Amino acid sequence: ASSAAKWVIVVVASIAVLVLIAFIQTFRMERSKQVLIHRSLHDALTGIPNRRAFDERLEKLLEEAKQERTPLSLILIDVDAFKSYNDTYGHLKGDECLKEVARVIKRQARHGQVARYGGEEFTVLLTRGIEETRHIAERIRQDILDLNITHEQYEPLCRVSVSLGLTSLVPEAQTTEKEIIDQADQALYRAKENGRNQIGDLAG
Ligand code: GH3
Ligand code: MG
Ligand code: MG
Repeated sequence: ASSAAKWVIVVVASIAVLVLIAFIQTFRMERSKQVLIHRSLHDALTGIPNRRAFDERLEKLLEEAKQERTPLSLILIDVDAFKSYNDTYGHLKGDECLKEVARVIKRQARHGQVARYGGEEFTVLLTRGIEETRHIAERIRQDILDLNITHEQYEPLCRVSVSLGLTSLVPEAQTTEKEIIDQADQALYRAKENGRNQIGDLAG
């Protein structure tokens, strides 16, 4: 009888170990899945959300703004004369610069959703009106200038700056994501044309 009891203990213990291993494996797989999802939505260099995350968020926020008839604003930010920054100081210094720029944008736009849109371009999505959006854009512009990152070739400022294009609207039923991005893009183009280190909007 005591040998049968031993066998029962061995079997029960083995099952317990197997169940434990299964639990640990499931937990590990779930964690790697979360890591992969996080990676697919974030930019490796700056750690902020990437273009894919931006596209998803814009779609969701546009839908909500249509339903609730609330404003939606987009700021498109582009580092000025960044090609010549890379040419002068090298690609690695360029990467460091982008990280600092991303940090400033993240700090100043904590009520919005920040993303690295591509290369040296960043976006901020806000469910706020034009006035507040303009304030945030202005603080980003000033704070990046205040980083005082030397850029000798970029005269007359000789330090890194950004140009920003903003758009703000209460969307109509037919408003598309593309229209919003195009508007911010045109506004950014104006800021560049008017001399960089400034905010452009479609009004001026
Ligand atoms: P503008 O003032 O008109 O915006 O001029 P620009 O030189 O900034 O514009 P352009 O689009 O010609 O150059 C963008 C540069 O950004 C070129 C590209 O090598 C650089 N770039 C894009 N992504 C990265 C990156 O991840 N790291 C670094 N170091 N450079 C990058
Ligand atoms: Mg660019
Ligand atoms: Mg640029």
